Amino acid sequence: MGDSHDEEAFDGRDRAFMRGRWTGALALAGVLVAVLAGCAHTGAADVRPDADTAPELVPLATVAPGVRQDMRYHGRRNFMGRPVAGYEAARCWLTPAAAQALAAVQRDVEPLGLTLKVFDCYRPQRAVDDFVRWGKDLHDQHTKAEYYPRVPKQELFRRGYIAERSGHSRASTVDLTLVVLDGLRARQVLTGPLADGREVDMGTPFDLFDERSHTADASLAPDVQRNRRWLRALMQRHGWRNLPEEWWHYTLEPEPYPQRYFDVPVR
Ligand SMILES: [Zn+2]
Repeated sequence: MGDSHDEEAFDGRDRAFMRGRWTGALALAGVLVAVLAGCAHTGAADVRPDADTAPELVPLATVAPGVRQDMRYHGRRNFMGRPVAGYEAARCWLTPAAAQALAAVQRDVEPLGLTLKVFDCYRPQRAVDDFVRWGKDLHDQHTKAEYYPRVPKQELFRRGYIAERSGHSRASTVDLTLVVLDGLRARQVLTGPLADGREVDMGTPFDLFDERSHTADASLAPDVQRNRRWLRALMQRHGWRNLPEEWWHYTLEPEPYPQRYFDVPVR
């Protein structure tokens, strides 16, 4: 889903941060120049021929096996109603820093009878390009009732729901929610139905293109508003910044690759 709202400001602020990192040097100058520049802290194993196109990513399952994965863009349960280009496997890949930061959140929620569930993680640029192609095809509206009932499809770009770039391609952004493992324990911190095995009520489904998906939308039931705030506060404690337009979308701060948009397929 589009998440362009904050890209400019965020990228600008992180520019200085990037300049000091060898990953940034690689992005700007390529492998050879980085080696010649003598980045002393760069191990030889890091300098690979494909290093300027392939980020160092890890499967979340190896770092936080308890986090549930419901990788929507691999299948048909998404706003395009079909598998998205570049998702060759239903796997969550992230930078090691992002995976560790998510594992830390998971360690917090499990004793509370909850688990994280991710819907999307690293997203190849070719998937974002696929979103854009879909967004421009005004004839295809078969998912409208479920995903954008109150927004005309021709408005999806202008309103920021679809964009040419996504923070997800930088590999330190996740879309997620909470699932109830034990409602009795979960009730200590959350409100609402909290049925075991069900997602916590966040007011809208993931990827609904609508103002009700704005994290602080005041038209929602008080229980829902509290649940969203609780998730946001929890994520913030572990370095995750929420996108105000999407209650499910979080980016790690600082990002390991603040200026990079990767295109390696998810496998
Ligand atoms: Zn997202």
